[in-house]
Amino acid sequence: MSLYSRHAWAVSDQKLSLMEKGSKELKMPSDKASSSRLPVLGLGRKRRLDKENAPEPEKKRIRGTGTTIPMSCLKEPTVATIPRAKKQVTDVKSRKPISTISAPKPAVSSTTARKGADKRPAWDVKGQLCDLRKEFSACQVQAEVLTRENLELRSQLGPAEQAARTLEAENKSLIRELTEAQAQTKEDQLELVKLGARVQELEEFLRTQESLIQSMQEKQLQLQEDRKDLATRLENQEKQLQESVAALAKSQAEITAQAALLAERTENLHCLEMERRHLLNQLQELKGNIRVFCRVRPVLPGEPVPPPGLISFPPGPRGASEPSTQLSLTRPSDDRCSIIGKLPSPPVRYDFSFDQVFLPDSRQNEVFEEVSLLVQSALDGYPVCIFAYGQTGSGKTFTMEGGPGGDPQVEGLIPRAVRHLFSVAKKLEVQGWSYTFVASYVEIYNETIRDLLVRVGGPQKCQGGECEIRLAGPGSKDLIVTNAQYVPVSCEEEVESLLHLARQNRAVARTTQNEQSSRSHSVFQLQISGRHMGQNLHCTAPLNLVDLAGSERLDPGLSTGPADRERLKETQAINSSLSTLGLVIMALSNKESHVPYRNSKLTYLLQNSLRGNSKMLMFVNISPLEENFSESLNSLRFASKVNQCVIGTARANKK
Ligand code: ADP
Ligand code: MG
Repeated sequence: MSLYSRHAWAVSDQKLSLMEKGSKELKMPSDKASSSRLPVLGLGRKRRLDKENAPEPEKKRIRGTGTTIPMSCLKEPTVATIPRAKKQVTDVKSRKPISTISAPKPAVSSTTARKGADKRPAWDVKGQLCDLRKEFSACQVQAEVLTRENLELRSQLGPAEQAARTLEAENKSLIRELTEAQAQTKEDQLELVKLGARVQELEEFLRTQESLIQSMQEKQLQLQEDRKDLATRLENQEKQLQESVAALAKSQAEITAQAALLAERTENLHCLEMERRHLLNQLQELKGNIRVFCRVRPVLPGEPVPPPGLISFPPGPRGASEPSTQLSLTRPSDDRCSIIGKLPSPPVRYDFSFDQVFLPDSRQNEVFEEVSLLVQSALDGYPVCIFAYGQTGSGKTFTMEGGPGGDPQVEGLIPRAVRHLFSVAKKLEVQGWSYTFVASYVEIYNETIRDLLVRVGGPQKCQGGECEIRLAGPGSKDLIVTNAQYVPVSCEEEVESLLHLARQNRAVARTTQNEQSSRSHSVFQLQISGRHMGQNLHCTAPLNLVDLAGSERLDPGLSTGPADRERLKETQAINSSLSTLGLVIMALSNKESHVPYRNSKLTYLLQNSLRGNSKMLMFVNISPLEENFSESLNSLRFASKVNQCVIGTARANKK
């Protein structure tokens, strides 16, 4: 290289001729050479030569001298050696070093060598020409070398271009593949993102499932524990059950034995009950199927105090500890005799004896105690009839219904008897008896029957004489009052309500004796029906509680006015029915063939309770007042007659 630079200026003129010559041989297009990647020595050298061809003072001076070197001198180059660098040419396609072009090693020319050592003086043109010729020869050699190189390179250029095209096609194919791969990669990335999200989702789901599985496992453990616990409890309970079953079997055997015992005892109890009824009946018969109790009411506030000894109660044979049965009325001496100069008539004493005498201070409950067994006979199937007889104001209503004000202490026989019957019937239920009760309440006024249980505003048919006594049905001996209310009752409240209704309906008329005295008979009837299913027994009986009308006689001082005539008619009707009652009892006592039941509505209505099989009790109520002495005496006489009567043996209405 240094060689080229050193001699550049010298060959500047020769260059054109060389290039012309070279162009004939090389004919290598410059653009082709420049586009080649291979190093083109000619070009590089040319550029360097252009630089080096810059005019130097000495060269200018030589030219300026007009000296020209003939071209013929140049044709014969001097012998010169151009050092040739061994080059490695890289084959583009194979990328292997192409074969090096061997060239004769440049020998150091004598000229060159001399030039360094001793430069030719300017005047030595011949020497210089000689040097140039040598250089020219070297250049020719070099051009040949280059030409050969060029040819060799050209031969390599076709395959290289072919390889380049192939590479280009491969490159395009690879680019296409790369594009496709990139597109595929993008799709894959998108898919990957999706798959990542899905993976996250699945991981989350997996975590949830894992926690669920964990909790399920915990639950399973807990359930297993519970199951063990339950199994233990079940085992214990099975043991208990077995024990209970064994105990139950034992108990059932005991129950069977007890049931047999109970049946036996029930049978015994029933026998005892029947025995009790029999004995009670015998007791009643011993006491008499017609009994008379006398009750003297106390002197009421405001009433004149009777003279001492007017009514006395002589003690019985067993002393004062026994209930009194004796009563004496003593008519006071007549003071009028002394006034007219005669000796006063001595007091007259009338002695009476009854089944029992209740003193004025007797309480309602004491009275009821004495009749409770008689009332109970109705449950056993015996007809029972209890009368209250006496003059108006003597205490009949007080005895039967009770005192005013609803005070339980002064309740009369009717509410007490009903309560007692309900109570005993309930006790008998245990023994298999079941009872039903039907109540009716009528009054007989002037031989006309009126229903006392008619409701205000209800049907008025039976008021005004339309109630008649009839047989209950064809073939039946029971009597009923047509159009009267027969009310089933099962408790004392219901009965109390009926009594209240009857009190309101009861006909009340003013009399001289008592402002509220009753001028009618009132009959409270309770039909009792008992059934024993086990023994197939049935018994029915009526309980009659009768508050008779006042028994006072006609007042001889009554005038003949319309009101007095009404009173007269009332009194005659009352006396007639009371007389008939006495006659019926007498006829029964005398066992007469004809008993005049139909002579009065009262005896007709009560005829089934006034027979041989019935039990009767008559209260004779007495006023303690002196002014009522005569009426008291009449009442006591009537009651004594009744008391002397004996009706045949009572028989229960049993089927
Ligand atoms: P009757 O019904 O016979 O006409 P009452 O029963 O109406 O007579 O009695 C007349 C009055 O005497 C009433 O005021 C009644 O309260 C009262 N009375 C009757 N008996 C007794 C008695 N045992 N104790 C207290 N007061 C009585
Ligand atoms: Mg009365």
